[in-house]
Amino acid sequence: MRDIKHAIILGSGFETALQPLESIKVETPFNFKKVVVYRVVVGDVKTLAVLRHGVDHENPPHMVEYRANMWSLKELGANRLLAVNTVGAINPIMRPGDLTVPHNMIDFTKRRHYTFYNTQPVVHIDFTKPYCEELRSLLIKSTCKLGETVWDKSTYICTEGPRFETAAEIRVFRILGADVVGMTGCPEAALARELGLCYASLCIVSNMAAGMQSRITSKEVSDIALRKREVVIKVLGETIKSMPAERSCSCSIQTNSEFKIQHKA
Ligand SMILES: [Zn+2]
Repeated sequence: MRDIKHAIILGSGFETALQPLESIKVETPFNFKKVVVYRVVVGDVKTLAVLRHGVDHENPPHMVEYRANMWSLKELGANRLLAVNTVGAINPIMRPGDLTVPHNMIDFTKRRHYTFYNTQPVVHIDFTKPYCEELRSLLIKSTCKLGETVWDKSTYICTEGPRFETAAEIRVFRILGADVVGMTGCPEAALARELGLCYASLCIVSNMAAGMQSRITSKEVSDIALRKREVVIKVLGETIKSMPAERSCSCSIQTNSEFKIQHKA
């Protein structure tokens, strides 16, 4: 698997979307968590894949061991990650079924393991632009090439969950400048940056956020993911095919060579 330098991270509704060629269980130092990483074909390219919530969708968003997922992919040699997240639309111009590639984020999670650096060395990563601009651009171009409409900028706000938000919370989030709301984008993006990995997200709008439709059910979220997953997989394949051999962004600057030693001890 070490010859593959990219990976996809899939969420709700994608558990049955892949036909893995191979799988490997990666042991991690994070609560002895083992992560199953698949080698899969998307479009006609091979890539690594992780099911964010586990192989049977057993971990709700606030219980996902994000550190283990990201660490496993780095261990196997991936340095570019394409994530798929489902979101609710806060911006009223968006509609269920739309796709968006967010350019910034706001973190409203509460009690997740959000860093690899709890001890020395003390590290503060630059997170001005939380997503890799190079991967974002490739994702947007690939989506357009396939004839899909995509919102090429949006601010993603991440809540703790697992409950959906209140209408009052959504009103506040709109004032803060958020366009979409989800439960899985943080700390995933920050952990990728800490490891020096490129990371961008393709978001599927599954519903209007609380207060913008009568009620929200988890069924409609997974139903939309099921409906859109074929095109999403195509976009991921097309994006991977369009990746230049070398990275020209600044994501890798965050790589800290001491990290592996520190956590493997
Ligand atoms: Zn990058």
